[in-house]
Amino acid sequence: MIFNGIDIEIERKPIKNLHLAVYPPDGRVHISVPIDYDDERIRMYILQKWIWIEEKREMLLSYNRLPERQYISGETHYFKGTKYRLKVNRHTSGAYSVHIDGDYIVVDVHQDTSSDNIRQTLYSWYKTQTLPIFGRLVLKWQEILGVVPARWEVRQMTSRWGSCSQSKGVLLFNIELAKKSIECIEYVVAHEMTHLIERNHTDRFRRQMDIHLSSWQKIRTKLNEYPI
Ligand SMILES: [Zn+2]
Repeated sequence: MIFNGIDIEIERKPIKNLHLAVYPPDGRVHISVPIDYDDERIRMYILQKWIWIEEKREMLLSYNRLPERQYISGETHYFKGTKYRLKVNRHTSGAYSVHIDGDYIVVDVHQDTSSDNIRQTLYSWYKTQTLPIFGRLVLKWQEILGVVPARWEVRQMTSRWGSCSQSKGVLLFNIELAKKSIECIEYVVAHEMTHLIERNHTDRFRRQMDIHLSSWQKIRTKLNEYPI
């Protein structure tokens, strides 16, 4: 169930009372509910607890957040799950480019460029590097799940790794995933594509994930080791 833009896992169980939990490190919200509770009743409950949920999430997310990047030489940056050092080469002329050299992500820029421009250069490189990976994985999961998205896109997103508009069949993937391992990228692709079959994080959703990607919970923990 999506509530105020946050994915909330609903698990129906033979229990008497609702049980709400927000888990580290990513502030994942999980609610166990008695089997006979309908969505409206769950929504009312979430609404009542909303301030608590937000505070708890904010607290958990702040623990693991990496410090704000400055895009200067020597800084740590991740690409496909591997840790690199950034090397910024400033030139009087020449095109902006990015390449990997050993343990370094090397960014060539104009001497007067701002850190914001360096960031943009790096992110457009992330995008060209990862688009084929997403393309390959979307095709792979089309075969596995037997569903075809109308469209998919990789873009900057502030609070989620991906999203799926089931009615339009549109999938969005966060460009931040370029920093994560292929395994993590695949988990997000599989997750969002499973939403084409099942809109909410229901038992049916989890069963689908269990069948096709049995280690998804482990991968999710890895993915959220450093939240967005
Ligand atoms: Zn989801």
